Amino acid sequence: MKFSTKAIRAGQDPDISTGAIIPPVYLTSTFIQEEPGKTKGYDYTRGGNPNFTNLEKTLAALEGGRYAVAFSSGMGALTAIASTLSAGDTVVAIDDLYGGTYRLFKKVFEKFGVNFKQISFKDMKEVEQVFKKKPKFILLESPSNPLLRIVDIEKISSLAKKYKVLTVVDNTFASPYFQQPLALGADIIIHSSTKYLGGHSDLIGGAIVTNDKKIAEEVEFARKALGLNPSPFDAWLTSRSLKTLAVRMEKHQENAFAVAEFLSNHPKVKRVYYPGLPSHEGHEIAKKQMTGYGGVVSVEFKLTLKEMKKLISSFKIFLLAESLGGVESLVDHPASMTHASIPKTEREKSGLTDGLVRISVGIEDKDDLIKDLESALNA
Ligand code: PLP
Repeated sequence: MKFSTKAIRAGQDPDISTGAIIPPVYLTSTFIQEEPGKTKGYDYTRGGNPNFTNLEKTLAALEGGRYAVAFSSGMGALTAIASTLSAGDTVVAIDDLYGGTYRLFKKVFEKFGVNFKQISFKDMKEVEQVFKKKPKFILLESPSNPLLRIVDIEKISSLAKKYKVLTVVDNTFASPYFQQPLALGADIIIHSSTKYLGGHSDLIGGAIVTNDKKIAEEVEFARKALGLNPSPFDAWLTSRSLKTLAVRMEKHQENAFAVAEFLSNHPKVKRVYYPGLPSHEGHEIAKKQMTGYGGVVSVEFKLTLKEMKKLISSFKIFLLAESLGGVESLVDHPASMTHASIPKTEREKSGLTDGLVRISVGIEDKDDLIKDLESALNA
């Protein structure tokens, strides 16, 4: 089956007991047992629920993985992975990543003795030096949040394998429609399903996909032990949303290209970050490892901070809000919103300046989006 068919049919079978085309929401916390320990596969929703199973089947099929585990949020999925570490273990992450991921390792797991280091993954000599010190895993975002940096997943993960380091890829920005990291050699995929997988800004969710049975069991254990489960309704909503992932991603990309090209040619714009533009430093690698470039565009304007903040608060269609990947276009100021938990000096080292604006381009009519940008910039 091809991607769009899997999105609609894998894990999405009609309900056998009633014939309902859409499986019901199993709003139950617990399940009857015939005798102690004898269940129909579920005992308590913190550990598992038919809606999680359905969603996991779809996600595994879409990412080309054997196992998927659904979580309460992207942070829940990252917490599950981090909980497999012991004191003294090291995680090496890309230096441009979601502020909450930085905060999880620096403010929570460092307290338990887990070391957290960040590098750019641009210099292969530096990468190899780091691998020689045997970190437990590397954590990549590609495209990264918010600078849309691209990492050569195949090259990095094959070197990681040589040193027995696991490669974890946060695939939130690309979605499995545009990039499938397991096929490129990654060991573990993380998702914030809140974004493109959910796609409608109406749920919070996360997921892990892997081909490694032991890792799948460990993170499933973490879901139960740490209470990282989604609600059955959110899992059901995510399954519903995945059916339209392919068409949404195509439209996000079409509109993102239009926005990136419009901004690139605007005299008030200093710099545009979009991996689909040939001028983007990761364009050639993105072209090789992705089938599309996604819907997020970041931009720096030739404006003072005050003017820029006024601009991004004055759009009519682009809504000023955190998050991304929904059908509606959102605009974010990372330095004071999504990435505020990263100290300014750390942020600026990777190029995340106070002037950066992140745009999650939605699936509205692109002429309306361009008009909105144009009239706000002219004003
Ligand atoms: N990973 C990335 C790349 C993100 O952008 C986010 C949230 O913005 C997360 C993980 C965390 O996901 P959630 O907000 O679902 O906990």
